[in-house]
Amino acid sequence: MARLQVLTYPDPRLREPSLPVKVFDEALAGLAADLLETMYAEPAIGLSAPQVDVRSRLLVMDVSERKNRPEVFVNPEVLSSARQGWIEERCMSVPGRSGLVRRATEVRVRARTLEGESFERRLSGLAAVCLLHELDHLDGRLFVDRLSWLGRLRFRAALAMQARRAA
Ligand code: ZN
Repeated sequence: MARLQVLTYPDPRLREPSLPVKVFDEALAGLAADLLETMYAEPAIGLSAPQVDVRSRLLVMDVSERKNRPEVFVNPEVLSSARQGWIEERCMSVPGRSGLVRRATEVRVRARTLEGESFERRLSGLAAVCLLHELDHLDGRLFVDRLSWLGRLRFRAALAMQARRAA
């Protein structure tokens, strides 16, 4: 296993949509293991393949308190979602920033395991939000795209300040 380099905003590669996984082999399992190791090292609760520059529809997460329940979703699809709420989000690809995002807090998802078996799950609360955040990455979207106009203004102001300090 290895820790992987995570792409950060505004890297254009984060904007490219990922392709469905077709081959369920050892390389895929290895990538999932590396994603988990990278996620746990942060520590973060979720990470997707495109964040480490691999355009495959694969994401990992672990929202358990003891960080001992890793979950892997290959080719995830949302079947239904409900109960919108405002949630404070962070992202390994947007270091040092957070923002309020409106998302569903209940979701039914269909995905495949690393062996290619189809399964369905119902997620709620943090697990639902985390899955939807990571799923956005597979479509080239970031949580900053979902901020309110005020949130976007704050985000841009913070970036401008950062740029001025770096100049
Ligand atoms: Zn993220």
